[in-house]
Amino acid sequence: MEDAVTAFAAGDGGQIVIAGAGYAGLHVALRLTASLRSNPAVELTLVDRHDYHQVLTELPRVAGGTRAAGAVRIPLQDVLAARVRFVQTEINGFDLAGRRLLTGSGPIGWGRLVLALGSRPNDFAIPGLAERTLSLYSASDAERVWAAADQALTAAAAEADPERQPRLATVVVGGSGATGVELAGELAEVLPAVASGHGLAPGQPTVQLVEAGPTILAGSSPQLIDKAARILADLGVQVRTNATIAAATEEGFRLTDGQLVEGGVFVWAGGVKAPGLVADSELPTGHNGRVKVDRYLRVLDHPEIYVAGDLASVTDPRTGHVLPSLAQVALEEGETVARNLDAELRGKPPEAFTFHNKGFVVSVGTRRGVADIAGITTGGRLAHLLKDAIEWEYRQSVRHLRGWDPVAR
Ligand SMILES: Cc1cc2nc3c(=O)[nH]c(=O)nc-3n(C[C@H](O)[C@H](O)[C@H](O)COP(=O)(O)OP(=O)(O)OC[C@H]3O[C@@H](n4cnc5c(N)ncnc54)[C@H](O)[C@@H]3O)c2cc1C
Repeated sequence: MEDAVTAFAAGDGGQIVIAGAGYAGLHVALRLTASLRSNPAVELTLVDRHDYHQVLTELPRVAGGTRAAGAVRIPLQDVLAARVRFVQTEINGFDLAGRRLLTGSGPIGWGRLVLALGSRPNDFAIPGLAERTLSLYSASDAERVWAAADQALTAAAAEADPERQPRLATVVVGGSGATGVELAGELAEVLPAVASGHGLAPGQPTVQLVEAGPTILAGSSPQLIDKAARILADLGVQVRTNATIAAATEEGFRLTDGQLVEGGVFVWAGGVKAPGLVADSELPTGHNGRVKVDRYLRVLDHPEIYVAGDLASVTDPRTGHVLPSLAQVALEEGETVARNLDAELRGKPPEAFTFHNKGFVVSVGTRRGVADIAGITTGGRLAHLLKDAIEWEYRQSVRHLRGWDPVAR
């Protein structure tokens, strides 16, 4: 144990620095707090640009106006023990040799670093996409989507031209992964009532889902895809598969076959990649700019840096594929990183990361959903209740971990 602490201290006074207070980073901080009670010399610092944690899995509800943005922002001061030093600042880069994070508040030295900076939307260099579409990766983004949909319906109601009106009342969502499907379902369910409020016919708003691949929810079981497609159809969502966006123009999405997809609001939910500051660093990166790690979740050739969550490029040995960007993966990786840091402090060997897939649940609208759990596919009300239960359980787990170390608060 002495040796481990000495090795830590060699970096910067026994500092463990966690970059990012999302699913992975917050979990590492919460889990480590208790184990550090027997190590008063070790400082734990959490760094994030926001002083709140965002429950990203609930963003489609904010974008559909059924949940307030404030409800998905959990203040970090309500969650962190006094033992954790929180620094609210922008991380701008890394000094790997000097073991320092470069931030808007000056450099922050580390003995051990946990990188958990999540993702950002990937526009795949499609011209015009970044400038002309909204994204859905923060509570503020979600508020903008909801405001834009409401404004578009207001504009449609005021439009005298019968040809322009349906275009204004159309929301186009690019990308039909879980985020795109959840957003499209949510909007299709709530917009008819909003339209009525603006004096439009409830059937007037249209939601279109544009997908480059041959199917929605790519990679899911055919049964799940079929059930989700049926619910979307029932909600009136127009799904266009094999529709590759070549450019986002002032008129709308121009597809590679020349067709134009018109609308009043355009949202891009077509994928994510690693934050730019990681791409600009000397860290070893792989698919979508994610950081390559060993089986203990340590950066290759930098065993003093751990990576967890969307930022980590972890291959599942069972499938040979990189694990998807999912909260459940981020939480499990955060758990392993916390245990490995604790093991280091105790002079114990680290444990290899293994992903235990708990299943896949997607809400489709405000009442129904689809789920694949333990090889069983369900669709309908039960799957939506399952999604609600997962979100409730997550919030409980944060609260439970907060109360995990009452002495330190
Ligand atoms: C709309 C939506 C719906 C989703 N639904 C689901 C779902 O139903 N189920 C599921 O399993 N997954 C879902 N996901 C995916 C899931 O949210 C992510 O996989 C998860 O958030 C990854 O956790 P993370 O800790 O890696 O990153 P994040 O949770 O994104 O956290 C990253 C943190 O780093 C901070 N940060 C980033 N860059 C900087 C910087 N330069 N300086 C300072 N701070 C910085 C951010 O502020 C943030 O707090 C959804 C994602 C979205 C966007």
